[in-house]
Amino acid sequence: METELKHENYLQLELKYCERCGGLWLRQRGMQQVYCASCVPKMAEFCAPQRTISQPRLPVADRFEFM
Ligand SMILES: [Zn+2]
Repeated sequence: METELKHENYLQLELKYCERCGGLWLRQRGMQQVYCASCVPKMAEFCAPQRTISQPRLPVADRFEFM
């Protein structure tokens, strides 16, 4: 049984296109991340100020449904 659990915990990666720079990167299966490692911090900085501004209808919102 322990061996089976080990197998289940094996890290599964899938190829994903970064939605910011378009580069291919490896994503851990089950993660909702859509940006590569180098773009994540940039998008975090970019998105943070937007939170304070309340815009109910952002055209960008549809893009996140894409994946
Ligand atoms: Zn990227």
